[in-house]
Amino acid sequence: MAQSVKAAVLVEPRRIEIEVFPLPDVGADEALIRVEIAGVCGTDAKLYAGAASTKIYPLILGHEILGRVVTAGPGFAARHHVADGDRLVIESSIPCGECAFCERGAPRFCKRGRNYGVRVSSDTPPHLWGAFSEYMYLAPNSIVHRIADSVPPRAAVVAAACLANGIRWMRTAGDVGISKSAVIQGVGPQGLAAVIAAKESGAYPIVVTGLARDQSRLELARELGADVCVNVETDDLLETVREVTGGELADTVLDVTGSPAAIEASVYLVKPMGTLVCAGTPAGNRPSTINTTHITHSEIRFQGVYTHTSESIKQAIRLAERGRYPLEKLISHEFPLDQADVAIRAVAREIEETNPIKAAIAP
Ligand SMILES: [Zn+2]
Ligand SMILES: [Zn+2]
Repeated sequence: MAQSVKAAVLVEPRRIEIEVFPLPDVGADEALIRVEIAGVCGTDAKLYAGAASTKIYPLILGHEILGRVVTAGPGFAARHHVADGDRLVIESSIPCGECAFCERGAPRFCKRGRNYGVRVSSDTPPHLWGAFSEYMYLAPNSIVHRIADSVPPRAAVVAAACLANGIRWMRTAGDVGISKSAVIQGVGPQGLAAVIAAKESGAYPIVVTGLARDQSRLELARELGADVCVNVETDDLLETVREVTGGELADTVLDVTGSPAAIEASVYLVKPMGTLVCAGTPAGNRPSTINTTHITHSEIRFQGVYTHTSESIKQAIRLAERGRYPLEKLISHEFPLDQADVAIRAVAREIEETNPIKAAIAP
């Protein structure tokens, strides 16, 4: 095993340097993984640009994590039911485990916890707190899930980072089910994963929306199970939804666009007593003006959702292990560690002619 570790460190906004760290010793309640692949997401682009609410430097990015256990201390192994050599998906949040939200199984709201790749500086020993690195340190309170070797690396990242959201947003929050109609506004990796969750839940018809530039993504949406693809720049979305639902409108609408205009339009696509699930966050957290009178008169349930749960990650992993959907197709671009900055700028659409659905880094 190497005694030194290469990692991509964000030393200040828009400047990533490859640095070398010592391979850490692992305590009884800790573990070390060899990173296999790490997803790059919009949050990484925000952190890179210095536009996120947390401003912690130097920082090893990478919070969508797949790796293999190199060494697990005896306490860590017993607590998390893992052994050396196990292949793991690691959740980003490292909960405190003691606050009211952690006790309720909602560590995403834990204020005392930490996050891999987001909220712990690489100045903090043992330094390897992010997945854009050859190896990563696992703290005692980590949340880890075993995943079968048969799942392709890209599919594993998509399962944990996107499909787990799709399952929770469509099925748990959106209540989609057999022969329920669903509209998914936005055809990025989250929207595409939501198509899979809707399909697997039996929804029909599944309508997906995108822009003219999203043509290949809309085709992928169809391959994953969408019944109707709408180009909102040329087609009348409301009319289409009316038509394909026999005039009733949709039982569930999920908005992952982050576009205030799309969110405002989404309200009118929901049938009375239906559900609007809102997951997109507009750039700069701009507010949108939705018609609350229409929501009231139609008794629409408006449900905000933020990330996944451990339960939905487990469901996504099991689905990925069955190999029913080509999840790996959602990662269109893969980069080596020393091109971490290129990967992030590609995701931020700063690189001409590169329009990744989703990117990943294989350190
Ligand atoms: Zn992310
Ligand atoms: Zn907590």
